[in-house]
Amino acid sequence: MTNQSSLSRHKTNISNPDMEVLLKKSGFAVRGNRADCAFCKGTAKATVSWNSEVAHCHRCHWSGNARTLSRKLGFAVSPETAAHREARVKAEEFSTWINSKHRIISDRYRVLGRKAQLAKEVLKQFSDCDPAWTALATFYNEESRLTASLETLSFEKTPEWLESQATPVGLFKEWETQNAVR
Ligand SMILES: [Zn+2]
Repeated sequence: MTNQSSLSRHKTNISNPDMEVLLKKSGFAVRGNRADCAFCKGTAKATVSWNSEVAHCHRCHWSGNARTLSRKLGFAVSPETAAHREARVKAEEFSTWINSKHRIISDRYRVLGRKAQLAKEVLKQFSDCDPAWTALATFYNEESRLTASLETLSFEKTPEWLESQATPVGLFKEWETQNAVR
């Protein structure tokens, strides 16, 4: 689809600029292999992970790749190959799946936390209220698991996830399994 005439419309003659240049020109402050997000509201220090192909903010969930950023900034872009397109679509679907899981888990965390808070109030006056003890126990049993899941989904503990296609292996495998039945 892209031909010589559409490429020549671009004013700049820099082709395939690297991700660091693209991020800086898009308003991100690059700090090593992380960056401050240009799209997060308020202060967002080093919330963006990036490599030569893609960048992702684990706070606002913005993500972009070298091609889309190049195009937005008016750099020349060579035609996308079928393999590239397939990889990009897969990455986008993965990102959507991550966001929906994050929402489900944080909703559950919020509901359990609210019940536990209520249970504490009830137990102050009715120390033998079994449902209140159960609510409290459920919250404490699930708290660490839910927190760990949220951290994994936000890549808080694995900011290097973009460095390799294989990480986070477990999440991606699970996602692929779920999507295999389409
Ligand atoms: Zn952000």
